[in-house]
Amino acid sequence: MLPTKCTKNTSVSQGVKTCCILAICIHPDAIQWFTASINAVTDERKAESAAELARLDAEIQEIVERKAEEERLRKLEEAKQTAEEVIRNPSQAAQTIDASSCNVSGKRTDASQPSVLVNKKHCVQPLSYTPSDLVTVNGATISAKAADDFQALFLAAQAAGQTVSVTSSYRSYSTQTATYNYWVSISGAAGADEYSARPGYSEHQTGFAVDFANSDGSCSLNCFGTTSQYAWLQDNAATYGFIQRYYAGKENVTGYMAEEWHYRYVGPPVALDMKTKDILTLEEYWGLPGGGY
Ligand SMILES: [Zn+2]
Repeated sequence: MLPTKCTKNTSVSQGVKTCCILAICIHPDAIQWFTASINAVTDERKAESAAELARLDAEIQEIVERKAEEERLRKLEEAKQTAEEVIRNPSQAAQTIDASSCNVSGKRTDASQPSVLVNKKHCVQPLSYTPSDLVTVNGATISAKAADDFQALFLAAQAAGQTVSVTSSYRSYSTQTATYNYWVSISGAAGADEYSARPGYSEHQTGFAVDFANSDGSCSLNCFGTTSQYAWLQDNAATYGFIQRYYAGKENVTGYMAEEWHYRYVGPPVALDMKTKDILTLEEYWGLPGGGY
């Protein structure tokens, strides 16, 4: 096909119409070949440019990610130093609560009993409470009042081929302070309240809470809910006086997101009664307030 501008200035050679410019007549195949060559070179350059741009994009992305990682590590290091300082000197811990008004109902305040209620409206009293009867059983540091039942649960799970491990149990006020302050330094107070109990508000401080994982600890926290060990606990924990403390759908009642791994010792009578009545939270079972701070 000839360019339209050639229509008036053409000659016929061997039966083929050619395009003539300044007395030079070019065979249409040559024009086609030339155009195709130019197009091919242009496409190649375009592809090269696109590849170069993609490479630059990837390089920029890598730099951005490295900077973000450096910033994250810097914050972690800062938080670690803050936490270490708090552990060395607990009195320096940020006062996040008013100890005199942190138990809204004034009920179930005895932190040494499995009947204690601890949630965002009921702190551990006194705030710096430490159980006097802590023992360590199968990796769990817990109140002696829960020890026999915990041991029985552990052995029954093992016998059923559903061996569990413990990732966290008793935590002191100062450990909780350090944990909480760590999250404050990472996410601010509002963010910290989503992930961590404020010091004095954690069931772990009573020695009645245990965080479970699968046998080798490789599946903990959010992963644990998917395990056969979790299913076994759902069926059997109540027999030994333990309940899953934070269920999905009960966030407004407990004040916490679902935690399939966190179990609380309340004693077999209460745990079994809750199971029979299909009541999932201590707040509802005891008719006491929960939810946010
Ligand atoms: Zn826990």
